[in-house]
Amino acid sequence: MAGIDALADRLSTYLGHDQVNLVRRAYFYAEQAHDGQRRRSGEAYVTHPLAVASILADMHMDHQSLMAAMLHDVIEDTGIAKEALNAQFGETVAELVDGVSKLTQMNFETKAEAQAENFQKMAMAMARDIRVILVKLADRLHNMRTLDAMPHEKSRRIAKETLEIYAPIANRLGMHNMRVEFEDLGFKAMHPMRSERIRAAVRRARGNRKEIVAKIEESIQMCLQREGMEGEVIGREKHLYSIYQKMRGKRKAFNEIMDVYAFRIIVDKVDTCYRVLGAVHNLYKPLPGRFKDYIAIPKANGYQSLHTTLFGMHGVPIEIQIRTREMEEMANNGIAAHWLYKSNEDEVPKGNHARARQWVKGVLELQQRAGNSLEFIESVKIDLFPDEVYVFTPKGRIMELPKGSTAVDFAYAVHTDVGNTCIACRINRRLAPLSQALESGSTVEIVTAPGARPNPAWLNFVVTGKARTHIRHALKQQRRSESISLGERLLNKVLASFDTHLEKIAPERVQAVLGEYRQEVIEDLLEDIGLGNRMAYVVARRLLAESGEALPSSEGPLAIRGTEGLVLSYAKCCTPIPGDPIVGHLSAGKGMVVHLESCRNISEIRHNPEKCIQLNWAKDVAGEFNVELRVELEHQRGLIALLASSVNAADGNIEKIGMDERDGRISVVQLVISVHDRVHLARVIKKLRAIKGVMRITRVRA
Ligand code: MN
Repeated sequence: MAGIDALADRLSTYLGHDQVNLVRRAYFYAEQAHDGQRRRSGEAYVTHPLAVASILADMHMDHQSLMAAMLHDVIEDTGIAKEALNAQFGETVAELVDGVSKLTQMNFETKAEAQAENFQKMAMAMARDIRVILVKLADRLHNMRTLDAMPHEKSRRIAKETLEIYAPIANRLGMHNMRVEFEDLGFKAMHPMRSERIRAAVRRARGNRKEIVAKIEESIQMCLQREGMEGEVIGREKHLYSIYQKMRGKRKAFNEIMDVYAFRIIVDKVDTCYRVLGAVHNLYKPLPGRFKDYIAIPKANGYQSLHTTLFGMHGVPIEIQIRTREMEEMANNGIAAHWLYKSNEDEVPKGNHARARQWVKGVLELQQRAGNSLEFIESVKIDLFPDEVYVFTPKGRIMELPKGSTAVDFAYAVHTDVGNTCIACRINRRLAPLSQALESGSTVEIVTAPGARPNPAWLNFVVTGKARTHIRHALKQQRRSESISLGERLLNKVLASFDTHLEKIAPERVQAVLGEYRQEVIEDLLEDIGLGNRMAYVVARRLLAESGEALPSSEGPLAIRGTEGLVLSYAKCCTPIPGDPIVGHLSAGKGMVVHLESCRNISEIRHNPEKCIQLNWAKDVAGEFNVELRVELEHQRGLIALLASSVNAADGNIEKIGMDERDGRISVVQLVISVHDRVHLARVIKKLRAIKGVMRITRVRA
């Protein structure tokens, strides 16, 4: 029991009594939950969460993070539900534990390696509370420290994942200490021999360098004293993994890397940083082009410091970093340092997100004080609150999409053809609406059908430019091919009355007419006819080169098949259905609109052959047609259900229903139903009439 007591002692240096007790309670809960489980090393399992909490305590994290650390494997390993934690420790802690469990389940191994960077981003996006990441990082750090107990293969896998995912995340969050430890432990597990050789070489070099290091340190110390400034001078060594990377990446020899002497000077305030810089530049000559002012322009993760390189005695290069104590804390613990400064304040604990936001705000303020860099602000924002979602394809590829993207955006991101032929989607193996916004971590599968076409309604919810452009393009193509085919039918209908056909007309004549209309190909002309921009019969006369000839009266009507698509629509004013006498109104750019012959809206132009065309219905018209009925009946209970079941019994569909009450006893119901044709409508009306109390049914027309 010494473990938790020792931790509680340390916690009481920066947490309140009640908070320490809550952490204790979480510990005992975890101890009981993991009872009987052991770590691979043989120790009781609870030693692991205790160690994770202890790592977070080193960073002075708040009590909720520590409680979550104690409980972080409870959901995953003991089958205790999130709700139980919620009841015991409150929503915030339960959410944190749940978030850590979700990250644990996200298995990197099965996914493509090249996606490490997206994986990092996805982990960040999934964690709504940044403390989830911090607990996860501490969990991973303890697992890395105890990696020796693992079988070789498994330890290599964990090490690889640590180097590719967790070290970069720590770096992103400015947590230098943790990143260095991840890298050195990961390096050791991946390449034990190389790691050992470099370690030995560093030890030898350290011996040789001892004297020079001491001399330089002394001369800097003296220099600060002379100038009357206080500062702590610390000698630095590169960590093993960074030496290894320099040797590999920059092809440098070990001696070359070790020839550099590095120091850090920690001072009290920003102003002193610049004065110390002046002093050391006076002491040794600075190397041109190596001075970097990360105080004025911090790195994206908030890192601040002055960097410079000097020519020391005998020309040895000396790298110097100068920063304040606060910057040092930020550089070592990054985002975690935020809790260190905030925990002393007496403020009411805010929502999960608010704390992380505060940190960002803090970094932004640092930035504002030092001058402006939009790029910096952007990168911090993107790193911590990504405006992207990250989702998987069924094969495990990660797709990055803007926030709010839907399955249709996803489909177009995968491939244009997938987008164009998509008809449905499964999100996490369940059918979902195409318009649903995707969430990070989901697996999205698109169902396609050959010959399927984009739906114009998609334009209402897609987010990406790519989807939008391709949908528009496909619709335009579709409209064009439908216009051409309608135009061809219209033209041939007129030509048929002259006993001829488009294909029988001499090609030279066709070319001549195209020339007159300034069009390149016959399709353009047919499209114009289909869209109603040109009259078929005028074009026909031009083709026959017999201007002035009267239009033959024997011209028969054009048959509507219902498959004309976007170039043919049904008038909303009179809602014609198959079986009704109809006429077609050609309106420029819109194509043909089908009206009832008796529709008042076209009564004036009905006999103008330039604007209207006789139509009839083909034998088998495809599709469903809306028609509005007005039903007057005695008011009764369950009226709507009664109407619905009658329509349904006649295979009709109710599209819309509205009701007015008249004098309390009579109800007037507007029904929009979809039917195949007049015969079908008659069947529906017959069923409706059978309802008791129905007095009158009329079809509503303009
Ligand atoms: Mn764990």
